[in-house]
Amino acid sequence: MGLLDGKVGVVLGASSGIGWRIAERFVEEGAELIIAARRMDQLEKLSKEIGATPIRCDVSSHDDLEALAAAAIEKWGRLDFSVNSAGVNMPSTIAELDPALLKQVADVQFFGAYYFMKHFGNAHAANGGGSLINITSATAVMVPVGLSPYSGCKAAANFVTKIAAREYGPSNVRVNALAPTFVPTAMNAYGGMKPIDDARVDLESESPISKAFIKETPLRRVTSVDDCADVAIFLASDLSASMTGQVVPVDNGNHLQRLPNAEEMFI
Ligand code: NAP
Repeated sequence: MGLLDGKVGVVLGASSGIGWRIAERFVEEGAELIIAARRMDQLEKLSKEIGATPIRCDVSSHDDLEALAAAAIEKWGRLDFSVNSAGVNMPSTIAELDPALLKQVADVQFFGAYYFMKHFGNAHAANGGGSLINITSATAVMVPVGLSPYSGCKAAANFVTKIAAREYGPSNVRVNALAPTFVPTAMNAYGGMKPIDDARVDLESESPISKAFIKETPLRRVTSVDDCADVAIFLASDLSASMTGQVVPVDNGNHLQRLPNAEEMFI
């Protein structure tokens, strides 16, 4: 028997990385899914594998999110969980900030996260409740030099998560955030410390970036997409029925130490 048997919900940002793995694992645990993102080719691939319904959605669009939540309610008449794993990371120091870069990051990481909480919070609230899960980041508490656009927005999303937990709680809606540290995915080539265009994703545990993180991590291991999926399953399931307004680190304890500097990760 799966932890999510009979449950229905949406995973946004399912076309890659953490969201992709969450979708696969949710289905293994018995859930039925709508999967969403911008790249339909990727979603179709995942859909063939796990039998989920793919829908195109740009998280920076208030209208797209409203339509996505409405599609889920139309399909099932309820919504047991919703996960937002959409994200982009574009590094910049404050001194060198290009306003266009900040806007691009904030459109996804702050406005998108906010619109997601609004439309999915409303959909859950109007249909008996549910569990809403935001994927934020350990960088929101770790004060990382050069990542202020990203981590500033993630910190704001953590804070709105808590307010949403208070506002939607009386309607039986739980709102939590899952906060990973470095996870080897496409987004995080170079640990997010260099532009994605020169990216090479190095997944080896012997790579400089993995070694640098392992050194700063009490449990001495790199955090994986499966680690994130395990906690997402818990937050979507009834096992976490008493939890709301929480930011749950998924980081092997990395936030207790520090993020490695760029020089340590890319030698
Ligand atoms: P990833 O493999 O690059 O996946 C990012 C996902 O976000 C993709 O599915 C992408 O889909 C989606 N996305 C980006 N912009 C979007 C938009 N405008 N509308 C809809 N979807 C959009 O990265 P990941 O590592 O899995 O990241 C997932 C989440 O974890 C993000 O919120 C990220 O900030 C967070 N996180 C990651 C790490 C890490 O080290 N990897 C650490 C902490 C937190 P499309 O391009 O198809 O739209």
